[in-house]
Amino acid sequence: MERKFALLTFGCQMNIHDSERVAGLLEREGWVETEPESADAVILITCCVRESAERKLYARLAGLRTVKEKGAVIAVGGCLAQKEGERLRERAPHVDLVFGTHRYPGIASLLEKAARGAVCSTSMDGLSLRGLPCRKREGFRCWVTITNGCDNFCTYCVVPYVRGREMSRPLEEVLEEVGAHVAGGAREVNLLGQNVDSYRRKEEGRSRFADLLRILGSSFPGVWLRFTTSHPRDFDLEVMRAIAETPGVCEYVHLPVQAGSDRVLEAMGRGYGRDEYLEKALALRREVVDVALSTDIMVGFPGESEEDFLATLELVEACRFETAYTFVFNPRPGTPAALLGDDVPPEVKRDRMARLTELTRRLTAQALLAEVGREREALVHGPSRRDSGFWVARTRKNFPVHFQRSVEDLTGRLVRVRVTGAGSWSLRGRLVEVLG
Ligand code: SF4
Repeated sequence: MERKFALLTFGCQMNIHDSERVAGLLEREGWVETEPESADAVILITCCVRESAERKLYARLAGLRTVKEKGAVIAVGGCLAQKEGERLRERAPHVDLVFGTHRYPGIASLLEKAARGAVCSTSMDGLSLRGLPCRKREGFRCWVTITNGCDNFCTYCVVPYVRGREMSRPLEEVLEEVGAHVAGGAREVNLLGQNVDSYRRKEEGRSRFADLLRILGSSFPGVWLRFTTSHPRDFDLEVMRAIAETPGVCEYVHLPVQAGSDRVLEAMGRGYGRDEYLEKALALRREVVDVALSTDIMVGFPGESEEDFLATLELVEACRFETAYTFVFNPRPGTPAALLGDDVPPEVKRDRMARLTELTRRLTAQALLAEVGREREALVHGPSRRDSGFWVARTRKNFPVHFQRSVEDLTGRLVRVRVTGAGSWSLRGRLVEVLG
């Protein structure tokens, strides 16, 4: 009899990609995807980076009791499962399977076991991705893990505890996987890792990330390459030059700064200071013509004074980020920062967030406005969700651009657009030509 699974994913690109693996593995074993209400197994891939993600997960789990009563296996995997282990079942006893971040290659047999009695499998004894099937979200874009886990132990972050120590995949394995995606029609390859700039440093004594970009660029000409996430301590001139000199690599770098005060950066354990960050941001703009720089910024870290916060605003202004993702500090149990005391009052956090957002929005709007009148290459993602009369595409600098729909389906096609207008978050344009 055909077995059916439903997948619910919470969190970041890494989790979305894990879900693609889980789906690929189950489909290889003959399972078919369906909605939770008609599934034999409902699998939740979870996140624990923020408290809100945990709350959402438990609320969703509570709603699955009726599905469980109909006989479905309820499985929870990913970061929260890794962090909570057996404790997760104390809070949600209707969960049959808890599986950690290194355990999903065995998902099919774990589900079978869990159908006979509760299972908790969270050992972190390594994760090999070689040859594992992976279902593609879209034919024209793919995500390929190059490093897994993290050795940085930033004081506020749970990732090293739930994803384990950093491991890099061998170059041949990455090439093989990218090759398979490109053969299947991928036009854009997104390289994933908690810290892509330290790719193979542990194994080979020096980072091979710049080499990887060059090798992929020459092996797959015409394919767009993107990567996330870079770490300001490890992001160096070699990588900048590889971006500049490899035509396939898009002119977009996500380089999380987190704060602009040396005191706060040190308390966060980030391993760089404000001047080092600024020098790298300026060097990147010199080396890579017309590059877009995006970042993550946290406000309200324990002990953050008004002076510290002003230093963050100054650094943001100096770096002129095209895009910034902003967060309020939220202590995560088990991390050193949780022991520092969450001492910035909520109203101060709110006020700082409002001031920071005002600045980052202004910078984004200016960056978008500077695109008006230019012709840009863009990859069409599909019909716009906001307005079905338009296509939405992403430029190499990762700006969304909307342009009028034609009869021909342009999803997954490379186009050239003339940018005719800018909004707060996106561009409007006119199709000039379809490139391929
Ligand atoms: S670099 Fe820091 S913030 Fe990023 S995953 Fe590693 S520990 Fe977390």
